[in-house]
Amino acid sequence: MTVIPNIVILTGAGISAESGIATFRGPGGLWEGHRVEDVCTPEALAADPNLVHLFYDRRRAALADVVPNAAHAALARLDRAWSGELLIVTQNVDDLHERAGAVRLLHMHGALKQALCAGCGERFDWQGDLPPGTACPACATRALRPDIVFFGEIPYHMDRIEAALAEADLFVSIGTSGAVYPAAGFVRMAREYGGATLELNLDRSEGSGWFDESRLGPAGQLVPEWVEQMLSR
Ligand code: NAD
Ligand code: ZN
Repeated sequence: MTVIPNIVILTGAGISAESGIATFRGPGGLWEGHRVEDVCTPEALAADPNLVHLFYDRRRAALADVVPNAAHAALARLDRAWSGELLIVTQNVDDLHERAGAVRLLHMHGALKQALCAGCGERFDWQGDLPPGTACPACATRALRPDIVFFGEIPYHMDRIEAALAEADLFVSIGTSGAVYPAAGFVRMAREYGGATLELNLDRSEGSGWFDESRLGPAGQLVPEWVEQMLSR
């Protein structure tokens, strides 16, 4: 009897780059022209809520102009076809994995198309702009914010992710710089639990040395190739 490996896949901004969404550390280390600390911290939200809300309004609106690429499509195909355990953990706040059809998916850093109430903690699907002071549909507190995990906040679903890593025979990291923790530590966790580790990235990342194998190139090429390899084993 052949045992089907359990797979955990971590994706980062690099998998959406070929769809036309800028990565985090674009030219000059800026995200869409902004310093990360000005748009991605609780302090920034408190100091300048208009700027932070507007920044995510623009990112949310820009989703209408992009489509999933071959890498998202390949992962969705693997998700459908793989009979072993499989979990896609994305650091991305875009919705391209789900639009490609991925189902076994967790957004560990939140999602642009969701709003979070800072009052009652409820989450809501959100389309369109989300100005500061928008009332929560559940508790009416004027404290809705983009459902984005800022630096200094704890990522979502960590228990489920760690449980999946503990059972993973293979951990694959795609298009992430290995600079943002705790995601950057998943490769070491997977290794400690005895899983094999593979990196697919445009260039060597900060964490490259931790992987059993690194394949360098664009996700739109490498991911479909890897998925084909997995499905034809
Ligand atoms: P990052 O920008 O720090 O790193 C991106 C990595 O992808 C780099 O190593 C780069 O070499 C690689 N890359 C670039 N183009 C690629 C391609 N075509 N194919 C393969 N690899 C490519 O991104 P990160 O590690 O995901 O940073 C984490 C933070 O950035 C997350 O918190 C995330 O929420 C946020 N973010 C998300 C989005 C999005 O949702 N699409 C976009 C920008 C930033
Ligand atoms: Zn509320």
